[in-house]
Formats: sequence, structure tokens, C-alpha cells
Amino acid sequence: MPLVQEVPAQVRSLERFVPLLGQTAVDEARALAQGLHERLAGGVIWNVNSTAVGGGVAEMLHSLLGYARGAGLDVRWLTIGGAPEFFRITKRLHHALHGEHGDGSALDEAAHHVYAKTLSRNAVELRELVRPGDVVLLHDPQPAGLAPMLLAAGARVLWRCHIGADETNEEVELGWRFLARYLDGVGCMIFSRQRYVPARYRDGRASIVQPSIDAFSAKNIELDEHTVRSILVHVGILEGPPPPSPRYAFVRSDGTPGRVERSADILRLGRASAWETPLVVQVSRWDPLKDMLGVLRGFSILVQNHAAPTVDLVLAGPNVRAVADDPEGPAVFEAVYRAFLEQPPAIRTHVHLAMLPTADVEENAVIVNALQRHATIVAQKSLHEGFGLTVTEAMWKARPVIASAVGGIQDQIEDGVSGVLLRDPTDLDTFAGELHRVLADRALAERLGAAARARVRERFLGIRHLVQYGAIIERLLVA
Ligand code: UDP
Repeated sequence: MPLVQEVPAQVRSLERFVPLLGQTAVDEARALAQGLHERLAGGVIWNVNSTAVGGGVAEMLHSLLGYARGAGLDVRWLTIGGAPEFFRITKRLHHALHGEHGDGSALDEAAHHVYAKTLSRNAVELRELVRPGDVVLLHDPQPAGLAPMLLAAGARVLWRCHIGADETNEEVELGWRFLARYLDGVGCMIFSRQRYVPARYRDGRASIVQPSIDAFSAKNIELDEHTVRSILVHVGILEGPPPPSPRYAFVRSDGTPGRVERSADILRLGRASAWETPLVVQVSRWDPLKDMLGVLRGFSILVQNHAAPTVDLVLAGPNVRAVADDPEGPAVFEAVYRAFLEQPPAIRTHVHLAMLPTADVEENAVIVNALQRHATIVAQKSLHEGFGLTVTEAMWKARPVIASAVGGIQDQIEDGVSGVLLRDPTDLDTFAGELHRVLADRALAERLGAAARARVRERFLGIRHLVQYGAIIERLLVA
């Protein structure tokens, strides 16, 4: 079986953005695509990463590729393959660039040997597809080592790094040292934040492009109140008989109809939440850095110390019994559950620990969509964050978001204007106080939500992302 696989892409029309962004913005994007098309003269723009499913990068690629193809560009997507040992090393590298130890293994010559050898085998297959003059975007550390081989084959190579650390440390240095021998010859790189650019590449070769969401995917598509309620009753988060004529149907990205069939696994003391009860929601993977525990404890302070009106908390994430690729998930969920059991009953009756079904990615997405839309406040109290797509998603739904001032969240929320930033994510009293302040002031919540949506419209929709990529590729082609 070949290592390199092509991922099929749907063609999506840019026309869908007209009601959101206006005709001019869409025409400008098309004109840029047309110019690029001519300059490419039949050449292809290849994206190369290591997975077609799971994670924000794959989600963004599906949508960006679709719109780029809709604009007439020949953009394609390939995934590389390798043995588990290769992916163990690239995961180690991934952790290092985040400033963490991961499995603590050495990134030494033996690791280089496995990494480079695997990528050489992938390169043999890639050279059958990529022609001189084609553009190749390599995403993240996994395919980074292909760069020298692709450059030698006459391709124009860009490296897109989706991760990074706010502060550098020994691990970060180690990660960049490992990659340097493959990346030093690449003249064009894209990072999500200025701070993520390592010192060695602060020489004009780096551009900054922030991630984006697809306003028309199951995760973000507009849902009316009836649909939101139907979905949340159906999965078990809200109480009540399902409203008559259930409309928890949605349109899949390939145009076929989908339905929410599965339920969530929910741990709680009493009843499901009532439709009228204000809801604080955090949706995250069960990862220690998302600090679900801290959200629970902060919520407990809110209920005990502030004369809050009745309010519920939903902590939602993927079902840890089903997700095989997140080894920390079960332990984190267990810790949150233990902390839940330690709370007095008066708190526990307001807390809902929801494990969402994951078997069908778009079903999962539309459930997250409904939950974010129903939330009175969305929290993202992460201790560390690359960008934080959950924040963008909630802002797009005009929710007031209370989130930590870490990583890319700081680029999204302007404190007090389009959300609330927590300077110290470990300060639970302040978190509880901010929850109380926003819950108690409906006008403030609405103002924050409206500004949040406007900010996403301006900065974090896929079309902006495409235009930035287009301009960078154009510069690469004229260079
Ligand atoms: N997500 C999801 N279902 C879940 C939990 C998370 O679809 O049960 C999504 C979430 O909506 C977001 C992505 O996973 O689109 C997480 O991206 P983010 O940048 O917030 O954090 P990461 O998990 O990449 O650290």
C-alpha cells in the first residue's frame, strides 16, 4: 500500500460568503485566485500533512481546499504515512514545540534516522506527483523533513506551522534544533502568531496567518432555536420531551442529509438542565491544559459565594471510552468526576459532565454547535492554547466568552470588548467573579457577544485565510 494518499476535496462555492461579507470581498478573493491561476500556468498547489481526520488542521484543510477549488484553483491534499515509531517521534517533536517533554525521549541521531528515512520513502512517491514549479505547503513537523527533497525536485516549498509556545524553553529549543537541518533552506514559512516564530527564522521569511472557522460547516452553521433545543433534548443535555416534529437534521458537507441519532453519556446528580436555566459551557478535549477541573471549581465558587441566579454548568468533551488517540482523556475525565463527587449536592445538581458521541464527526459537530448556541456564557479556561478554535466558534455564535489570556486566545478576544480575558487562569475567584458579572448583566453579555461575532466576521472566517495564503503564494511565485 502506498504511503502517500490523496484526500478527496469537495468543491465549495465562495458565493456563500456574499451575504456575510459582501460581493466586493468575494470578488476580490476570486480575482486573487484568478491571478494565481494564471501565474501557476497549470501548476498545482499541494498540501501535505499526516492525517485527513481529527484535529483543527484537518478540519480547516477540508474547508479551505473546498473554497480554493471553488475559486478555480487546482489545490490538492496528500497525507504521508509511516510506521508508529515515526509518529511517536513526530508527536515528541510536537510536544517539544509546545514547550513540553512529551514522552521525554531523545531527539537524537537515531530519531533523525527514523524521521528522515520515513520521509525519503514518502518523497519517492511524492516525486511521481509533484512537478517542477508546483507549490507545496507542508503542514506541521510531520512532513517538514520533505522540504529539502522537494526543493531539489524543483517545487516551491512553504512550511505552515500550526503550533508554538508563548515562551521559549529548553524543549522548544530542542524541537527547533531538530527541525533546523530540514527547514533552514525553506524561504517561506507561515506561523499562527508572531511569538511562535523561532529566532532563527525571524529574518523575513516568516508570515503570520491566523486560523479560521468555516461558517457553513456543521460546527458553525446557523441553527434556529427549535433545532438547538431538539438536539440538546435528544442527546440528553436538556430536559423535556422532544418538541413535536423533531428537526435535528442537518446537511453534511457533501450535501447529503444527516441526523443526530446518538445520545451523549452524561454524569449528573439530578435532572437534565431546563431550557430556561442559564448555562455556562466549556467544550474541550479532556486534556489537563483545558482545565475542566478549574472550571468546575470556579463554578462552585460562583454558586457558593455569589448570590447567583440558578445557573447550570456543562463540561462537554468527546466520549473518552470511544476516543483511542487521546491517552490522557480517561484519566482527566476521571479526575473531573472525582472533583464533581467532592462538591456539595447543592452544587452537583447544577453540574453536567457530558461525553459527546464521536462516531460520526458531523453529528458530533452539530451537537457542539447546538451547545455553544444555547450557552449563556462559553468558558475556555485553558492553561495553554495554540489558537483556541472553540473560542472562535463561540464568538461566531455571538456568545460572551470568558477565556484565559493565553496563546491565540489573546489575538481573538479584546478584553472587555469582544469577550473577557482572564490574566491569571489559575485565579478561580476572579473567574467566578467574571462569570457572575456577565450572568448578572444581560446588556453586557449581548454587547460582548455582538462584538465577538463582528470580530470573527472581520478576521477569522475562511475567506480571509484563503486570501492571505493566496498573497503569500503569489509572492513565492514571483520571487
Ligand atoms: N471539539 C469537538 N468535540 C468535542 C470537543 C472538541 O468537535 O467533544 C472541537 C472543538 O469544537 C474545536 C476543536 O475540537 O473545533 C478543538 O480545537 P481547539 O483549537 O479549541 O483545541 P485543540 O483541541 O486543538 O487543542
